[in-house]
Amino acid sequence: MSTSEQLFANAQTVIPGGVNSPVRAFKGVGGTPVFIKRAKGAYLFDADDKQYIDYVGSWGPMITGHANDTVLQAVKDRLDDGMSFGAPTEIETTMAQRICEIMPNIEMVRMVNSGTEATMSAIRLARGYTGRDKIVKFEGCYHGHSDSLLVKAGSGALTFGEPNSPGVPKALAEHTITLTYNDIENVRECFKQIGDQIACIIVEPVAGNMNCIPPQPGFLECLREVCDENGTVLIFDEVMTGFRVALGGAQERFNIKPDLTTLGKIIGGGMPVGAFGGKKEIMSHISPLGPVYQAGTLSGNPLAMAAGIALLNSISTPGFHDALFAKVDKLCAGLEAAAKEAGVPFITQKAGGMFGVFFTDKPAVTGFADVMECNNEHFNKFFHIMLEEGIYLAPASYEAGFVSSAHTDDDIEKTLAAARKAFAALS
Ligand code: PMP
Repeated sequence: MSTSEQLFANAQTVIPGGVNSPVRAFKGVGGTPVFIKRAKGAYLFDADDKQYIDYVGSWGPMITGHANDTVLQAVKDRLDDGMSFGAPTEIETTMAQRICEIMPNIEMVRMVNSGTEATMSAIRLARGYTGRDKIVKFEGCYHGHSDSLLVKAGSGALTFGEPNSPGVPKALAEHTITLTYNDIENVRECFKQIGDQIACIIVEPVAGNMNCIPPQPGFLECLREVCDENGTVLIFDEVMTGFRVALGGAQERFNIKPDLTTLGKIIGGGMPVGAFGGKKEIMSHISPLGPVYQAGTLSGNPLAMAAGIALLNSISTPGFHDALFAKVDKLCAGLEAAAKEAGVPFITQKAGGMFGVFFTDKPAVTGFADVMECNNEHFNKFFHIMLEEGIYLAPASYEAGFVSSAHTDDDIEKTLAAARKAFAALS
């Protein structure tokens, strides 16, 4: 029995499913989750000290690699001054200024403790601001697990076959309209009928919770257009894409101005942090300036702010993202070549520092229906061979992969060597 197997057995006696977030349980791919003891740079080390090249990066935050010295030092430097005060601190303003500089569409920002809180709060704000109840989201997009957003959701909700979770009141779910990602006609038709009742559209500008699906040309532009025509708030959920598909996120990469933006992951440098922000006119409706209530005992936590600011500064250096994207390009090209050599139907898709692997004979995957047609059996087998070879991929075929600046050419070569073995076993 491996140490991970022992630890997992113990965990299951006191934690539901042995994990504190469902996708970690390996239910989609089968087998026992790897318990992690420590990590450094591009590597994870499990409870038996086996080393893995990591393409999960804590699901996104570790864009400069694990246990980054600059981030750790920033936290250490703050630690002795105390961990939380429940009163304002200067570092929160520094963080807010940094975000507004990097994403000029954000004029005011409120810090929260997770991506879920960020999207939940942004939706409440959009509803309070417009005085409307209905919201639009897209099938297979995941925006955290708040009630309104857990309707036809992606990520773990797909892995566990529960895109509509029990416990979400029907009366609330009825206000969530789910449309088809990348389907412009579908959006126009919906807004033609009830556009004046819709408070907001929330969208992942690159979908990263049904694997990795970039927006088709014209899709994000269409969302901006119908929102302008109908007085609807456009929310870009950049929890995953923020600071990763470009420093200024997908809104910079695709040059679309959302009204509100939600952030998470990288912004906390590995600490539990989220944020939502946008136009001053809308953000002024948040308490205590306005009537829409939103709060948090630990929000703007100084240690978390220190970690996040250190990471944002590290990735703001010229050339950082180009170098990161080159690594993703190399990885994806290598994986496709290896699959082709073995005769396995397979493609990759990417956007900046994130990528997806698809076992399909289609030339491109543009939406939820395509994702559902991919060969899950092939993915699961591929995943386990890679894991055995010391390559840690997301343990579900509905998740995007993440590369960090700590991944070396040698790491990518090793990954491709493992992939050649895995594809050969599938052919
Ligand atoms: N939005 C998106 C786009 C996400 O990818 C996630 C998490 N993967 C969330 C929101 C929720 O964030 P959290 O898990 O921090 O609550």
